[in-house]
Amino acid sequence: MENKLFIYNTLTRKKELFQPLHPNRVGLYVCGPTVYGDPHLGHARPAITFDILFRYLLHIGYKVRYVRNITDVGHLVNDADFGEDKIAKKAKLEDLEPMEVTQFYLNRYRQAMDALNVLPPSIEPHASGHIIEQIQLVKDILAKEYAYESEGSVYFDVEKYNKAYNYGILSGRNIEDMLNTTRELEGQKEKRNPVDFALWKKASPEHIMRWSSPWSDGFPGWHLECTAMSKKYLGEEFDIHGGGMDLIFPHHECEIAQSVASTGHETVRYWMHNNMITVNGQKMGKSLGNFINLEELFTGAHSLLTQSYDPMTIRFFILQAHYRSTVDFSNEALQASEKGLSRLLEACDSIEQLKANVTVSVIHPEELISKSFEAMNDDLNTPMVISYLFEAVRIINSALAGQIQLTAENIKQLKAFFQIFLFDLLGIKNVLKEGNASFEAFSKAVDLLLQVRLQAKQNKDWATSDKIRNELTALGFEIKDTKDGFEWKIKTT
Ligand code: ZN
Repeated sequence: MENKLFIYNTLTRKKELFQPLHPNRVGLYVCGPTVYGDPHLGHARPAITFDILFRYLLHIGYKVRYVRNITDVGHLVNDADFGEDKIAKKAKLEDLEPMEVTQFYLNRYRQAMDALNVLPPSIEPHASGHIIEQIQLVKDILAKEYAYESEGSVYFDVEKYNKAYNYGILSGRNIEDMLNTTRELEGQKEKRNPVDFALWKKASPEHIMRWSSPWSDGFPGWHLECTAMSKKYLGEEFDIHGGGMDLIFPHHECEIAQSVASTGHETVRYWMHNNMITVNGQKMGKSLGNFINLEELFTGAHSLLTQSYDPMTIRFFILQAHYRSTVDFSNEALQASEKGLSRLLEACDSIEQLKANVTVSVIHPEELISKSFEAMNDDLNTPMVISYLFEAVRIINSALAGQIQLTAENIKQLKAFFQIFLFDLLGIKNVLKEGNASFEAFSKAVDLLLQVRLQAKQNKDWATSDKIRNELTALGFEIKDTKDGFEWKIKTT
């Protein structure tokens, strides 16, 4: 297949033509959610970014194995290699099994992703279901002597690794700077070097989520799961690894170190990272009070929100920025997106009313299609695609106003343009049409009842006729008999 997709590779810091290892298959791994809290805005952006990539790769003909993990092994409260397990802490507080906590939040995550029309990945492996693979990986790294055991825990030897390879290759950090800025923290005395990270941690007596291993009863380090599971499902070398920019260091840097230390070579060909979301210009954080859950956005139940937002508005809003730019959430910006999306959907619905009235084309919607493919090929430039969709809106509105004439082919192309780009690739659900479809069915049912009443009247069956009229009135309908039959509307108070 002819492939012109260029993607920005964080590893080489440039846009590269995407060339998969296999001519028509793509292996894609994306760091998935940690399931010990409600899904929030920070979950929406990587999910939507890599959903666009997934949809586009499928559209241009690749068979894609998309793996997105679920981090359900209790990691530690302060993200350092010591402290309390977050899941166990919640389980203890709410008197639940740790797996009840993770399942509860996983269900909520999946509901939110479904509302955002994010396609489910091909495989969603749980970290807790791959402890054997993670233990094996620790053994492999120990065998290559890039890790050491210390008091029941196993640490990665960053300094030794850096002598043979390059620790910092992805993030651009160098080990001297890291050494200078890493604080000596309590509980780290068992490490040879403060920059070393845990592959396996011995569990303290109160730690609930624990597994037996050759070193201790304990649990794997956070970075280990992605290396072990990507290898299991995508192999020792695969095409694309994605995630948020906040994962570049330490998570992805450590993933590279673990893979290279265990296999002797790089695993990932293209690293892709989406930028972050800010709220009213500020970084999102629990302590700042600007931490907005997706459910709060969908219902409007947050002090920073002046209204609720449809999940499609959120999706559209995120896609109006390039995935490598920051996105700033504010009510004004979301309301502008809501208006913009309605304009697109209304124009798309009115394509049905367009009439072909010329045979020679004066406008060229097919150019919008080819330019939109070029935009997608340019590192998934969704804001550019959206600007072309608005060009199509102008064409449709001018045609409706009688200012330009269209051919049958023009109308077909406009329809195809919206179908491919707005619905299939950007993954917007047509909320107008779905709303209209159910209202249409509802209207037909009311008409049917009133037809039955009309017939009853003609048959002088007053009991049936009155019953239908009275009960519909009680339900809030206003019914008027007319010369030709009836009219009805829903009473507005
Ligand atoms: Zn990961």
